[in-house]
Amino acid sequence: MKHFPIFMAVEGRRIVLSGGGDAALAKLRLLLKTEARLTVVAQNAAPEIHAWAAEGVLTLIPRAMEPGDAMCARLFYAANEDEAEDARVASLAHADGALVNIVDNLGDSQFITPAIVDRDPVTVAIGTEGAAPVLARAIKKDLEEKLPPTLGLLARVGKAFRTRVEALPFGVKRRDFWSDYYFKAGPAVTGEAEAQTALEDLLGQHLAAPEKEGRVDLVGAGPGDPELLTLKARKALDTADVIIYDRLVAPEILELARREATLLSAGKEGFGPSVTQDAINEMIVSHARGGAYVVRLKSGDPTVFGRLDEEIEACEASGVAWRIIPGITSASAAVAILGQSLTKRGRNSGVRFITGHDTKGFADHDWRALAQPGEVAAIYMGKKSARFLQGRLLMHGADPATPVTVIENASRPTQQILSTTLAELEPALQNAGFDGPALTFLGLAPRAALAAAEDFEQKEAAS
Ligand code: SAH
Repeated sequence: MKHFPIFMAVEGRRIVLSGGGDAALAKLRLLLKTEARLTVVAQNAAPEIHAWAAEGVLTLIPRAMEPGDAMCARLFYAANEDEAEDARVASLAHADGALVNIVDNLGDSQFITPAIVDRDPVTVAIGTEGAAPVLARAIKKDLEEKLPPTLGLLARVGKAFRTRVEALPFGVKRRDFWSDYYFKAGPAVTGEAEAQTALEDLLGQHLAAPEKEGRVDLVGAGPGDPELLTLKARKALDTADVIIYDRLVAPEILELARREATLLSAGKEGFGPSVTQDAINEMIVSHARGGAYVVRLKSGDPTVFGRLDEEIEACEASGVAWRIIPGITSASAAVAILGQSLTKRGRNSGVRFITGHDTKGFADHDWRALAQPGEVAAIYMGKKSARFLQGRLLMHGADPATPVTVIENASRPTQQILSTTLAELEPALQNAGFDGPALTFLGLAPRAALAAAEDFEQKEAAS
């Protein structure tokens, strides 16, 4: 982000613009929406500017700009559509201490003006840092259609009602009230008196409402790509009061959380939490008992190597209602990348989801069964235990040529694939230097056609 969006207080402040043609008019139409004191410096001002000056909505100085014209101005626009003149007036304005924008000259401007959707006092500003004005206009059009024209009215009447709403307890209850006002009662409101009545009625209803019960959803965030979220998970993120998330949950997914939601990290590392499981359980239960809708967000599917049962038991022990919202587990995402099936007629009639680690260290499994030809296993948390796995499998008679594929950061932009064999797994994995979450498939290679494709990233096994 090279430009940081802010809303600047301009009520009663000076904004000075130099120029009198089309570029000046376009900017002035925007600036006239503000409560700033506008001054236009222009030798040849368009008739509209003269008319505005006559109406008293701006001050016109009908001459070329001079030192001191932008004194005490918050903002200054150079809109002469003439490079040399714009550079001259910009340097005068700099000397007067104003922040300067030169129309159509991003590089020399200290600020830029976004595309604006105006539902005053609700204002949406859209910026693309000059990269894609067409995109900004398309987004603006979309928002203009989505936001009801009465939104500004609702916000103005609502603002005056804020102190009355203090009768409701702070937090979830007040947020629910405002959400009902804007999204349930609001869309039907057409005038100020109606908005006032809607507020009074709603407040009555909310004050009379019984205590809200908290609840917990244990939600799968999928492997990382936000498009691999379920619609239910998306809705949970939209409505949660508190979101307690694991380290492996992708930042792009947290971005989707409701802005008012409290986001708390449960900070789990690969194996073994850095916040203790007891502390996480306590976090979940205490927020839910306080009346919050808690979303416990786990990577992949919450039922796969997610210590889910401990959290469910904590909820049950405290009488907190809970529900599981499944997600796409990393094995599903990873196998899709390989263009393979997890099961295949004539190859494997079952697939094992195993972990490289358990509470005791490297996890033990039925190695003899896993070593059989055609066997497929999705190995979670299998990076550190790769050598151990390799040794155990070879010892139990596995074919050294058995394909092994490791997919790091499946479904994320940083996704990488290592395609190797059981014999080569170590040191190939060592050489690959993967430091993100990785899923290992025993018995699966990328589909040949995919492996040959140019854009299919594949690291060579080290010899
Ligand atoms: N509940 C999760 C698994 C949690 S255990 C799920 O269903 O996917 C953590 C392990 O999941 C990691 O060590 C890694 O093996 C795997 N994992 C999680 N996200 C991954 C991703 N985007 N790509 C590859 N493996 C991933």
